[in-house]
Amino acid sequence: MARGETLVVGAGPTGLTAAIGLARRGLPVRVIEKRDTASNLSRAVGILPPTVRALAALGAADEIVQESLVVERIQLSVRGRVLGHVDMSDAVAPDRRILALPQDRTEELLRKVVERLGGEIRFGAAFEWLEQDADGVTGRFGGTEERFDHVIGCDGVHSPTREALGIAYEGYDVPGDWSIADVDVGGDFDPHRVFIDPGDRRTGVTIAIPIGPTRTRIIAGRKDALEGLPFPIEVTHVRRTAPFTISIRQARDYVRGRVLLAGDAAHCHSPVGGRGMNLGMLDAVAAAEAIATGEIAEYGTARHREGAKTIRETERARRPVTSGHPLVPYALATIGFILKHSRAARRAFLRQATNF
Ligand SMILES: Cc1cc2nc3c(=O)[nH]c(=O)nc-3n(C[C@H](O)[C@H](O)[C@H](O)COP(=O)(O)OP(=O)(O)OC[C@H]3O[C@@H](n4cnc5c(N)ncnc54)[C@H](O)[C@@H]3O)c2cc1C
Repeated sequence: MARGETLVVGAGPTGLTAAIGLARRGLPVRVIEKRDTASNLSRAVGILPPTVRALAALGAADEIVQESLVVERIQLSVRGRVLGHVDMSDAVAPDRRILALPQDRTEELLRKVVERLGGEIRFGAAFEWLEQDADGVTGRFGGTEERFDHVIGCDGVHSPTREALGIAYEGYDVPGDWSIADVDVGGDFDPHRVFIDPGDRRTGVTIAIPIGPTRTRIIAGRKDALEGLPFPIEVTHVRRTAPFTISIRQARDYVRGRVLLAGDAAHCHSPVGGRGMNLGMLDAVAAAEAIATGEIAEYGTARHREGAKTIRETERARRPVTSGHPLVPYALATIGFILKHSRAARRAFLRQATNF
């Protein structure tokens, strides 16, 4: 065993951020990833200010900030009838805005930082099992067994690391159909505008978030995200559509001995507010710091509390949006009116939405 080496299981945004956090502190780290190649799925889009600040402190934010789009405008509508436009560009300082970048690009830029720092990422190596004692952890992956000081399980919602530890992942699935579409768009497309339409019980909510100069992501509370689009978006090419289930779950514990859980391995919740990936990356920063300082138990307590808070807040925001209640459009119109006319309200809204 190389003294002090940490095994990071999973090369998603959480695992890569953990590797950067460890490598920056000069701690040896190895990332294993069961896929043979990097994922090319756009999944999470929003990168929130606390995440940018945490990455900047690790010297890993510059390229992400340069390549991301900045969300500046929000269009609110109900079943296509425009309620208003909210201009967010004056609400907060440039370094506190919401960035948008497809997750595969975020991962690629993080991988480059890991490699620059001398961290190793091994693709095609699936974690299988672990056993630990007071001195270290034996991990089996890719047909070999090796000893490590610590393991961080960043291996997603179905986390084999969590399974190996026998930690429960408690929660529930939200009933109903959900789908996403990743599309190229033509016409008069504004790459800094987010569209939100709560629809009704039949159509469900629709949200469109720009992920490139001529590319947008649509998330909808129905089987087919592209059916009956309530926004004036001209779809020229469909890159991908997929159904998904919203699950609300949290691991009962984030730490067992020398093994830590982070990211989706530790929690999952609704995409409302775009916090999933961000919460995981902040777990990762904290996990690397905990290994460096030896404050592993504190990591478990603090990050579990943060995860529970995020789940509470995102559920509080999701329930009315997905309820189809006839009063929701009126509530949204009122919020839109206040946001449009009050800079203080825009600032408060953005602070609440992004500074979790
Ligand atoms: C369709 C879709 C849309 C989404 N949209 C958003 C969004 O808009 N905003 C948002 O914040 N979040 C969104 N999410 C959630 C977001 O993608 C996740 O929160 C984020 O990917 C979590 O990162 P992670 O690194 O913890 O886990 P993952 O990204 O799942 O990475 C886990 C990695 O572990 C690897 N792995 C698994 N098992 C093993 C093993 N045995 N050995 C080695 N490696 C293993 C996997 O291959 C994977 O690469 C979306 C998710 C989906 C599916």
